[in-house]
Amino acid sequence: MNNISHIHSCYGCAVCAIACPKKIIDVRLNSNGFYEPYITDGAKCVNCGLCLEVCSYNHSEIALNELPKVSYGAWSKEKSVRHICASGGVGFEIGRYLIGKGYKAIGVKYDVKRAKAEHYVASSVDEFILSMGSKYIQSYTLSGFKGINRKDKFLVSGTPCQIDSLRRYINKMKCSENFVLLDFFCHGVPSKFVWDKYIKEQQDKLGNIDFVSWRNKQNGWHDSWAMTISPSDSGKVVDWYDSYNLLTKVSHPNK
Ligand SMILES: Cc1cc2nc3c(=O)[nH]c(=O)nc-3n(C[C@H](O)[C@H](O)[C@H](O)COP(=O)(O)OP(=O)(O)OC[C@H]3O[C@@H](n4cnc5c(N)ncnc54)[C@H](O)[C@@H]3O)c2cc1C
Repeated sequence: MNNISHIHSCYGCAVCAIACPKKIIDVRLNSNGFYEPYITDGAKCVNCGLCLEVCSYNHSEIALNELPKVSYGAWSKEKSVRHICASGGVGFEIGRYLIGKGYKAIGVKYDVKRAKAEHYVASSVDEFILSMGSKYIQSYTLSGFKGINRKDKFLVSGTPCQIDSLRRYINKMKCSENFVLLDFFCHGVPSKFVWDKYIKEQQDKLGNIDFVSWRNKQNGWHDSWAMTISPSDSGKVVDWYDSYNLLTKVSHPNK
């Protein structure tokens, strides 16, 4: 079959699933705890090959090959943004700017109840706040990528492999002028099973977990490899976010 059924242990970006005209591709965790596409009803496949065309894992060359490339160094001027984001907060600032210009922004939030990082669509700056901060685990992209359409303008942020597939998709759909794509340096992601085990260990020690943040700078930039995990009765979540003017409207970052 001219489809992704032979592809395993790929990047799990799920762009094949949104590209499939028959909607017969789903994405699930494989036996190692990484997202992988599955054909749900092979009989309906029309062999169009679109799923393979948009797949970054299926190509050795990258999708973006125009030259010249230009580099800039930048960071947010807002201290609270730099504090909450993993690096200089440029991703958030680009999103804030583009939302102001009428774009929707697709980023990654962390669902603390399901211990899951997932892409989502933000239509306002308040909604985009949940995307601040790098979640160093694999994100489930379908939740956000399903919201992509041809009539709106989008900023989409994600790992380089996710963005490379998405670039192939929007080029193929001939709607790339409606998109700004944003990726970042990325060393890869750990298995979801390792993350679940870690969270369970913390829960056994602390009780129910209400808040998770990676590269937390509460103790300054030099200790910013630290994770903060707070149990639900700690009250830390509200304290921490309320100390930054930007976030006063968000009473709980993970709900
Ligand atoms: C999985 C992962 C691996 C990384 N590996 C490296 C590395 O090897 N070297 C390095 O220097 N930096 C690494 N980073 C950090 C990354 O390069 C910084 O996020 C980047 O510098 C931008 O920082 P920021 O302050 O602008 O944005 P931040 O607010 O920290 O977040 C940037 C954007 O990343 C998106 N995002 C957050 N989590 C995920 C996720 N799990 N999957 C997809 N998108 C996500 C958000 O939507 C947000 O728009 C990694 C980040 C992630 C999420």
